[in-house]
Amino acid sequence: MSRIAQVLLPMPLPEAFDYAEPDGMDLKVGDQVAAPLGPRLLRGVVVSLRDATGVNRALKSIESRLDDPALPPATLEFVLWAARYSVDAPGQPLAIALRGARAAKAAPRRVVQATGSVPARLTPARAKVLEALGDGDAASPADLARRAGVSSGVVKALIDEGVLAIRLLDDDAPFPEPDVSLPSAALNPSQAAAAAALNAMLDEGGFQAALLDGVTGSGKTEVYLEAAAHALAADPHAQVLVLLPEIALTQAVLARFEARFGAAPAEWHSGVAPPLRRRVWEAVASGACRVVVGARSALFLPFRNLKLIVVDEEHDGSFKQEEGFIYQARDLAVVRAKIEGASVILASATPSLETLRNAETGRYRWLRLAARHGGARLPEIDLIDLREAPPEHGRWLSPPLVAAMRDTYALGEQTLLFLNRRGYAPLVLCKSCGERLCAPDTDSWLVEHRYSGRLVCHLTGFSMPKPERCPHCGAKDSLVSIGPGVERVHEEAQALFPDARVAVFSSDTAFDAREARRLVESMAAGEIDILVATQAAAKGHNFPMLTLVGVVDADLGLRGGDLRAAERTYQLLAQATGRAGRHDRPGRALLQTWAPEHAVMQALKAQDRDAFLAAEMGEREAAGLPPFGRLAAVIVSGPDPGALEAFARDMAQAAPNTAGVEVFGPADAPLGLIRGRRRKRFLVRADRAVDLSAYMAAWRARVRPTGALRVTIDIDPYSFL
Ligand code: ADP
Repeated sequence: MSRIAQVLLPMPLPEAFDYAEPDGMDLKVGDQVAAPLGPRLLRGVVVSLRDATGVNRALKSIESRLDDPALPPATLEFVLWAARYSVDAPGQPLAIALRGARAAKAAPRRVVQATGSVPARLTPARAKVLEALGDGDAASPADLARRAGVSSGVVKALIDEGVLAIRLLDDDAPFPEPDVSLPSAALNPSQAAAAAALNAMLDEGGFQAALLDGVTGSGKTEVYLEAAAHALAADPHAQVLVLLPEIALTQAVLARFEARFGAAPAEWHSGVAPPLRRRVWEAVASGACRVVVGARSALFLPFRNLKLIVVDEEHDGSFKQEEGFIYQARDLAVVRAKIEGASVILASATPSLETLRNAETGRYRWLRLAARHGGARLPEIDLIDLREAPPEHGRWLSPPLVAAMRDTYALGEQTLLFLNRRGYAPLVLCKSCGERLCAPDTDSWLVEHRYSGRLVCHLTGFSMPKPERCPHCGAKDSLVSIGPGVERVHEEAQALFPDARVAVFSSDTAFDAREARRLVESMAAGEIDILVATQAAAKGHNFPMLTLVGVVDADLGLRGGDLRAAERTYQLLAQATGRAGRHDRPGRALLQTWAPEHAVMQALKAQDRDAFLAAEMGEREAAGLPPFGRLAAVIVSGPDPGALEAFARDMAQAAPNTAGVEVFGPADAPLGLIRGRRRKRFLVRADRAVDLSAYMAAWRARVRPTGALRVTIDIDPYSFL
């Protein structure tokens, strides 16, 4: 042995392990290797190599170097950086980075080809087969028989006779090269100015960041497509990554990329089947795949020459990954760009306060598109005061909203009813004993889903058929549904407009990319009159005939003590109302609210984003909250209340005393019980100058959770439950 290789395994272990490099293996940092751990051989990545002279520890040897692409150095650096920042084991982000490398390869396809020998007897059926072989792509025996319109026995006989042979075909069609010579859209003057600024930024090279801040429908997508074209044209090996918050959005953006570059980009999200995931991963690593459009985990792909990252809808909360490895993909996108020496464009109509602050202080370029493209006007926004115009008993749509829907329907235009709540009713209550139905081991109400006839816990996925009797007191037919979800609003809209075509768009009805695409296409084609939707349909889409947006419960997001409640409500409602009137027909939006005087409602009505944000910034600054300070949460959990209590107390004692850091807690988490585990929380606030990750790591190192106790650290928390 002459060198020691440190190998990181894709699992939650605290550190990388040392192995001996077998003679002649000549490893490099980033190589994927098979390394023994206990009785198993595991895939890992070499993170460092050092001279072994003078080391006389007995080390296990690396078994082999895998015949898979190495992780590029910048990807590896990014993985290690992300782990340190999130105060988590480096194997966790590595597991995300290797997801594609570990996906199963596609089995080779069996296809039929001619051998050149002539059949002894040429029946009409055999002639049809030979003829069909000539047209179209290589086919399997069954497909060939179908194409020829004969039974599969005919094909089999020809194979047996040696006229045809089976060949195994690897499905490794290359990713099409984007065609940057296609013409761009004729940009309007403010788009052209923004595109020119972005191109200049790309030309400057190195790490650069920009906020593309434009109202809904202002044509931000066209602008970043231009920047992507510029980056791809400037360097024949350049790669571009576009991050999107939802699969439903991916489809629309894919289509626009395809229209612009004559070829569809690679997609990357949980819905992509393993063999394709594997192909995308390898093609990104080799540089053959140049454009990727994907969800947050695409940030961990092994890019070779990444020149531009676009984060579209950068304010969106779903960029925050809350389970497993906890990270904020928008923030990590900026870090990745820095490591790669690339540019990053954050696009939004309602930027996050964090990003706006960076734009205000000049760390990011700030490009604004103030008007909608082509003279389309922003919708009129009106508030419906539910105290003055309440819906009828047991209904959720107020008379003014119903009247507006009637006018819209009469004109042959579309309505979007927005309610960010899946299912039929958020609560099921027994009118006999008052019991609220909860999941058996979790502190959260069961949501009634009528389409599936089940009660579902949205937190854990637990579900059960709706019982006939109250599980608590046994009374029959005593369960009543409280409050509305999208399914219930669908029912109401259909009852009000029996002839209208009403559809629901939520993650239950658009459960995969194909379903989402189908719903978006039929809405865009005018095949739906009233769409009842959660946030999955509230953003990014263009529906030309949509002229009315009704927000069923505008106050929904304001409840609960969340730092970002007002900001998030503003963003979501601005996005939802922004769906109306995007083309030549003017649109309007009606917000049903019990609190019309609330600053968020007033700002939405006046369409005065800047005044709202200024007030919100002021409050955050006064309290030293993000973006003016840093936050981290600690969640301690365990099945035994006594042990948890004692551990949480010890943990509070162990918190390092550091200037500029305040620790609050432990307190019972609002969600006190999940899957049988009790939960307590700490909240840590720090001044901006403090390295909060280092502080948390030091604290974490001082405590030893034993048994089933668990400590989870969440840097920059978005959920406070
Ligand atoms: P945003 O992303 O800002 O919400 P989009 O890029 O989706 O806006 O643009 C809104 C609509 O205007 C889309 O239908 C888009 O095709 C159209 N559009 C934007 N810019 C142009 C342009 N320069 N020429 C033609 N159509 C455009």
